[in-house]
Formats: sequence, C-alpha cells, structure tokens
Amino acid sequence: MALKSVIKGVHLVPMGTANAFLIKGNDGLTLIDAGFPGKESAVFGAIRSLGHSLDQLKHLIFTHGHPDHIGSAAAIVRESGARTYLHPLDIPMARSGGPFRPLKPAPNLLAPLLCKLFFNPNERVEPVTIDQPLTDGELLPVAGGIEIIHTPGHCAGQVALLWRPGRMLFAGDVASNMMGLGDPLGFESLEEGRASQRKVASLSFDVAGFGHGKPITRDASNRFHHQWGI
Ligand SMILES: [Zn+2]
Ligand SMILES: [Zn+2]
Repeated sequence: MALKSVIKGVHLVPMGTANAFLIKGNDGLTLIDAGFPGKESAVFGAIRSLGHSLDQLKHLIFTHGHPDHIGSAAAIVRESGARTYLHPLDIPMARSGGPFRPLKPAPNLLAPLLCKLFFNPNERVEPVTIDQPLTDGELLPVAGGIEIIHTPGHCAGQVALLWRPGRMLFAGDVASNMMGLGDPLGFESLEEGRASQRKVASLSFDVAGFGHGKPITRDASNRFHHQWGI
C-alpha cells in the first residue's frame, strides 16, 4: 500500500491492519509504532520512497507493547539502529516478546469477534530492547518536541504522543477510527480506559492518528471532546 501524507512532516505507513507513522524532523526520522511481525519492509519502503536511507531513522517510539505495535521492531532496529522508547509497564512484554496481558472485549457487539481475530495474548514476537523508558508528562526532545501522556486502560503501559510542532496526537489504541471514532477492540481495564479517553479529550490538538483506522485531519480534539469530554 502506498505511503500517505497526513500533514506536513508526517506520513502514515500502512502495516496491514495496523498503522505506523513516520515524522520528519531536524533530528532525522522518527517512527511511531512498528506493526505486526514481518511488516518491516513497509517501513523500509516508506523511508526510501521519501529519499532517505535506513540509518536516518533515529527514533522508534511505541504507543504500547502489543504485538501489532512492536512486532517488526527488532527487524527495524537491526537495519536502522534507531533508539527505542516505551512506557516501563510494557517493557517486560517487549523484552520477552510475549505472552501479552489478556484483553476483555470493548462493550460493543462486534468487539468479541474482532478481539479474537486480532489479539492473541499467546502470540510471540521477536524481543526488542528498549533504550529509554517514557514518563507521563515529559516533553521528549525528539522531532521538535513530543509530549508523553500516559493513557492506560487498553494496555497498562500505553501512552498517547502529542507532537507539538504539528499539533498532532498519536493516540495509539486509546481509541480507534475504524467505523467512526470509538473504542479500541478491547481493554485490560475499561474504567482506566474511559479515564484515559477523557484525559485525551481534555487536550488541544488539530490532527489525530490511530493504531487502527483513518487519521482525523482537522478539529480532532473537538471530536474527542464530543465523544468523551465532560
Ligand atoms: Zn493494542
Ligand atoms: Zn493495536
């Protein structure tokens, strides 16, 4: 699938049923998430089609440690040498490559089926070393400034990433935008997941990218606020 520009400086890299995003900064390229296993060629193709070499990928930031977000990470790091970032609560899953903490389907009719199809807690992926743990509230000096917002619920170590220069939120699986803006397919804790959706809805951003589904390219925080705001 072709590389799609979301906004200036950001491309969506389609990785099958999951998305990754490539940000172009003054400090080289930053990749958000790394798809299921065996999808590294999508990232390498994207980097080359933008006229860069693989060693220009400097940072690989994970929204969380699920197999559809860290699956191709080890292969990507091997070729690029990128520095890796993940919240400490998910680092053991990345280090072991599975098993993964179980999910309960989201409270909608399709979720039990989708959860079974797309999430297997016993899946194994190639382990990946994490160079830097992420902390809630920190401003990562990467790609001009990325704010880290801890958003547990779907996954205990999930973070949303607010890329300040483009006012774009990388939501991971705090929400999805498959059939409209809604829940991810499952939660470790629905209560914490709702609190995280409200936390994200209180932020101000124009554009949102998701682990699954299409980006929202304008008025994105209004859409979140409409859905989950108080
Ligand atoms: Zn997930
Ligand atoms: Zn996912």
